[in-house]
Amino acid sequence: MNKIEFRKDAVSGEWVLVSAGVQKKPVFFRRPVEKPLPKSKCPFDDAKRSKQEKVLLWMPKSGGKDFKDWWVQIFPNKYPVVARSSICPPLERRGIHEKKIGVGFQEVIVTRSHEKHFALMNREEINLVLEAYRSRFQALASEPCVDYILIIHNHGAKAGATVPHPHSQIFAIPIIPPDVKRSLDGSYKYFRAHRRCVHCDILKNELKEKERIIYQNKRFVVLAPYASRVIYETRIFPKFHEPRFEIIDQAQRKDLSDAMGFVFRKIFKKIKNPDYNFFIHTAPPKERHAEHYHWHVEILPRVATWGGLELGAGIDVVKISPEETAKLLRR
Ligand SMILES: [Zn+2]
Ligand SMILES: [Zn+2]
Repeated sequence: MNKIEFRKDAVSGEWVLVSAGVQKKPVFFRRPVEKPLPKSKCPFDDAKRSKQEKVLLWMPKSGGKDFKDWWVQIFPNKYPVVARSSICPPLERRGIHEKKIGVGFQEVIVTRSHEKHFALMNREEINLVLEAYRSRFQALASEPCVDYILIIHNHGAKAGATVPHPHSQIFAIPIIPPDVKRSLDGSYKYFRAHRRCVHCDILKNELKEKERIIYQNKRFVVLAPYASRVIYETRIFPKFHEPRFEIIDQAQRKDLSDAMGFVFRKIFKKIKNPDYNFFIHTAPPKERHAEHYHWHVEILPRVATWGGLELGAGIDVVKISPEETAKLLRR
């Protein structure tokens, strides 16, 4: 039986997604994960052959004109964890429990090369991916029931990727995810107490102390967060206060491409191509009062495994200090 629901935990008030009974998604990594399946069997090298749905957006590199020159293309996820629908699900209550039907949109952003992940892309290639993110974000933000849009990228099987071909995903859902809510609430609380953005204050402090700074250019800073949750965690922040990712302009995109290129190349070389997740945290598209927020990119390499202390107590144990991470990655 299909069951796709956002359920609210009655104690913590946090949402989880139950997406059970939907068509099982094929896994394109061999287990154990040593050799991923070859390019010839890749579902993203030839979208037509693998029967992907209609392309929602495609972009060529400069000089390219036709679809055959595509560098980025976006299509709906063939195996979504949410049911595609524009209806607004009401909050349903039964006894102590609350839920909403699990509707939303889930799209896949694919870059052309089977082998070229972010660490191997040049500035133009990364820039086009960012433009594709921004463009679909804006399109989905106009959907009536979308409360949050999350852009994520899983690199490698340990990070949850099921297809080795580089791709990102965009989720548009009718709830605010718990991690984002914590981040928004914390920023709001600080703003109320100090009338300043907590992220701007952190950046000011970090740029003064320098020991956790990995890279900076005119508009972006890359750093290892003071209270990192995983080994080698890094974040990319715009230097100038801005709550929303989706309004970045060309100059910012260029600087962000450089910052991303730098940090992914360093992670690739110094940590030897670990699996990782990255995602963009930005203000909810329909939130009118989001001035306290400061959008950013979080990169989480998947080198450590979680044990009881992490899962049972929520205390993340990091065995390499953020200062060492910064030193390693900026060299
Ligand atoms: Zn491929
Ligand atoms: Zn700020």
